Amino acid sequence: AERLAQPAIRALRAYDPGHDLPTLRTRFGAVLAELGSNENPSGPSPKALAAAREALADSHRYPDPRCGRLRDVLSNHHGVSPDQLVFGNGSHELLMQLAQAFAGPDAAVMHSQYGFAVFAIAAAASGAPTICVPALPREHPSAPWGHDLDAMAAALRDDMRLVYLANPNNPTGTWFSPDALHAFLKKVPDDTLVVVDEAYGEFMQVAGHASALSLMAAHPNLVVTRTFSKAYALAGMRVGYLVAHPSVAAVLERLRESFNLGLATQAAAVAALADSVYLHLTLTRNAEERAWLAAELAERGHRTLPSLTNFLLLDTGEDAAPLERHLFDRGVIVRPMGGYGLPQTVRISVGSRAENRRLLEALP
Ligand code: PMP
Repeated sequence: AERLAQPAIRALRAYDPGHDLPTLRTRFGAVLAELGSNENPSGPSPKALAAAREALADSHRYPDPRCGRLRDVLSNHHGVSPDQLVFGNGSHELLMQLAQAFAGPDAAVMHSQYGFAVFAIAAAASGAPTICVPALPREHPSAPWGHDLDAMAAALRDDMRLVYLANPNNPTGTWFSPDALHAFLKKVPDDTLVVVDEAYGEFMQVAGHASALSLMAAHPNLVVTRTFSKAYALAGMRVGYLVAHPSVAAVLERLRESFNLGLATQAAAVAALADSVYLHLTLTRNAEERAWLAAELAERGHRTLPSLTNFLLLDTGEDAAPLERHLFDRGVIVRPMGGYGLPQTVRISVGSRAENRRLLEALP
């Protein structure tokens, strides 16, 4: 079927998790350090798990297709109207649907080099002409390899319908300020949507940086995607959402699979959002642990990029594949970034203190 696929799809590669985790869990048991997927080692709020368990009793029923309860609590939480929200089976799904709805052969897409990988996949799947703008240089003082918003503004063109930004970005961990975003938005025509992927938004906000949601009212072409996978530690439940102008949300609703969020998922997200004390503990713990890990790595001569997320990008300055192998053989799973065009780096999730210690001990 290879030759039947669209040319842009033929160039894509299927998601490769790198390793078979069930096998590794059997092999290494409790000493396995799973630092490859930007997961949250604190685990979800116990209240979220209890709510999910309770919801399972209704498993013979379809879930609420409107995600009504979750919609209400989130619209209160963000101070937006309920019809500005769209839910996805993870924010990944929403990033794909945005391109499906708004990009195509006559509707171009733009993203940054080293921007989150799904942007390029979504663009390719839609058959849109795609502009990948070179990232900031490695030497940049605050955002090495980060998004170059000035260059992105200069690359705008008449057929541009969708711009993907990630703030903070994965895999670089870098971020841009609301002022920089605002300046960018002023240069973007009304008929170009600007998607700001804030999968790590809560980690950024706890460090004092405002979400793009604060610019929503002034910019109807702004779309902000969020997820419960990271700060809320519900990656296995799959729940993402976006906030957009109601007219943008209405278009996406036509594409959405009616029952894309399961009932346990919806219940877990509602309870997780209500448990703000637990969220705060998680965010504080992550910030402390990230600073500790970065300092310990630096002491051992390993350079990491500045990060406002739950992961660090380690820049070895040489081919990082042997380092990844070395750690893998000792039960420490990190992510090589060769697929992103950064073969000299590995991405390391901020794990529990025990996992982080195991990483430090396993380093060559
Ligand atoms: N955006 C970014 C920047 C991410 O790093 C991820 C997860 N790796 C996602 C979106 C997708 O997350 P999810 O589908 O779990 O919401």
